[in-house]
Amino acid sequence: MHELSLAQSLLDQLLDLAREHRAERITRVAVTIGPFSGIVRDSFEFGFNILKDSQPPTSSAVLEVETPDPVYICLDCNKISVIPFAQPGQSAELVLGGPYPKKCPWCCLNRLSPKGGTELILNQVEME
Ligand SMILES: [Zn+2]
Repeated sequence: MHELSLAQSLLDQLLDLAREHRAERITRVAVTIGPFSGIVRDSFEFGFNILKDSQPPTSSAVLEVETPDPVYICLDCNKISVIPFAQPGQSAELVLGGPYPKKCPWCCLNRLSPKGGTELILNQVEME
């Protein structure tokens, strides 16, 4: 499972940080999961919360995950748009949702390309 190994490598990174700073424990971790990263947020949180218990420094770490809306660049007019994915039950047409939205809100052409958002970023770590 992809998310489980990502959660494990985040925890390894946290343990290194705790060691480096001579901290006893990590209290809070804030990460950003890019909308095009292919990471399933729930699975990642689930994996993190199971795996964190195996090491005392991370066992009480609270994970905060931020998932920004996807950003696209239009290949025709070069304008940048933030277009949320369609929520379950919403019409994809209506919100221009899904990984490949139908058209650019500025020029109404349909050549939108995902911009960034493929990464998992460690934003903030609090330890004591
Ligand atoms: Zn456009």
